[in-house]
Amino acid sequence: AISASTLPLNNSFATLPPAFFTRLMPTPLPAPYFVAASAPAAALLGLDPARLADADFVELLSGNAVAERSKPLAAVYSGHQFGVWAGQLGDGRAILLGDIDTANGPLELQLKGAGATPYSRMGDGRAVLRSSIREFLCSEAMAALGIPTSRALAIMGSNQGVLRETMETAAVVTRMAPSFIRFGSFEHWASSRKTDELKILADYVLAQFYPELQAADNPYQALLAEVCQRTARLMAQWQAVGFMHGVMNTDNMSILGLTLDYGPFGFMEAFDGQHICNHTDQQGRYSYANQPKVGHWNCYALAQALLPLIDDLEGAQAAVDSYQSTFADSMNAQLRAKLGLLTEQPDDPALFDAMFGLMQANHVDFTQFFRALGNLQLAAPQLDAPLRDMFIDRDSFDAWAATYRARLQQENSVDAQRKLAMDRVNPKYVLRNYLAQVAIEKAQQHDYSEIARLLAVLQKPFDEQPEHQHYAALPPDWASHLEVSCSS
Ligand code: AMP
Ligand code: MG
Ligand code: MG
Repeated sequence: AISASTLPLNNSFATLPPAFFTRLMPTPLPAPYFVAASAPAAALLGLDPARLADADFVELLSGNAVAERSKPLAAVYSGHQFGVWAGQLGDGRAILLGDIDTANGPLELQLKGAGATPYSRMGDGRAVLRSSIREFLCSEAMAALGIPTSRALAIMGSNQGVLRETMETAAVVTRMAPSFIRFGSFEHWASSRKTDELKILADYVLAQFYPELQAADNPYQALLAEVCQRTARLMAQWQAVGFMHGVMNTDNMSILGLTLDYGPFGFMEAFDGQHICNHTDQQGRYSYANQPKVGHWNCYALAQALLPLIDDLEGAQAAVDSYQSTFADSMNAQLRAKLGLLTEQPDDPALFDAMFGLMQANHVDFTQFFRALGNLQLAAPQLDAPLRDMFIDRDSFDAWAATYRARLQQENSVDAQRKLAMDRVNPKYVLRNYLAQVAIEKAQQHDYSEIARLLAVLQKPFDEQPEHQHYAALPPDWASHLEVSCSS
């Protein structure tokens, strides 16, 4: 059996030249204890999740011990924050332990909050329990929703105080992804005109993660196009479940098209396209409605960084342009699936726009609306009440529902089949802020049971789970004051 000290770690990233990282040990966390583990994440590594609560894993995953084969390091990257060039940013608190072979290729293990690095700037290198629980739960919830994301293996906590707006306590999340390389990792070298390093990084990414593109006429242009298209599809997936990232800076954009760096994220509740989930984002740059545009803007920043390698302005432009059609196609496909439509029709965009207009005007709960829409019966408008009652303006709902029914009839839609298909894409359970908050407040009192219960519910987001109905409920009154910021 694998023990923490004999974890079969490689470190492919460490084969890059030393300028890409700093080798260093995690800073030990005083008296660490087990907080949570994800069984599906552990399974990816062939680990028994129960073992993660044992002392050897608590030591390893809090940064107090290092596996024999580990070559811990912190990688360097830069980026644009809120549209402005910010120079060098990180990794200020994430230490890469190495990678482990899995059935789906190597997965890197990172300790987030494992102490200061040469890239920490003014930061303390720590993460608080609150934000660690949010990242842990949301990573695993997104994976269960079928959305590309970094994963979270475990949280280890400590009573060590960490000062944010108030005094909190420290935690370390072990997160996993094939790679944590960001758009900002490329911008880092491009901004200082270090074309040799830029090329080394691009060649590494191509060889490790996009080997099929190496044979393209212009592999760097092919890489850019592929990343732009993955990003476009990711944005469509976010929009389709109402996920708002909150800090879509270029240093938080994965070169693999994964959801990365969970901070002040949120899931849409009462629908408002202008909703801003990050209290720090006063301009609403990263509002729900803006996410697709920002994804595109970020792809421009990546294109700018890769341009010296692509060496073809029109080619780079074409690669970035492919974002828009990919996003539109992907978004429309997602929306057709959410509405249970089997065919594509010219009036579909108008049907979708009218629906979002109604959701906006009536502040309908995003998750509950789509889930309930699956119960609509073609021949029984008199049974629409549960859905119809979500709208203040019932007449406008009736008018839209009539158009939707006609559309379904046109393709001979069958109620029972449609409901089954819709229930597989419209989750019943998402990580509402208040659900995370309940788990956080209990954990701050050293009761970690709610993290485990909530995680179990979120791991089957499309299942009815009748015994867990209350996890699908609207936020209680106290939650209307909840604010999340960049502070983590
Ligand atoms: P974020 O907004 O969380 O993506 O963080 C932006 C950058 O700041 C990243 O490079 C982080 O590594 C770094 N950072 C955030 N918080 C801390 C901290 N407490 N200590 C050191 N670096 C941090
Ligand atoms: Mg970081
Ligand atoms: Mg970040």
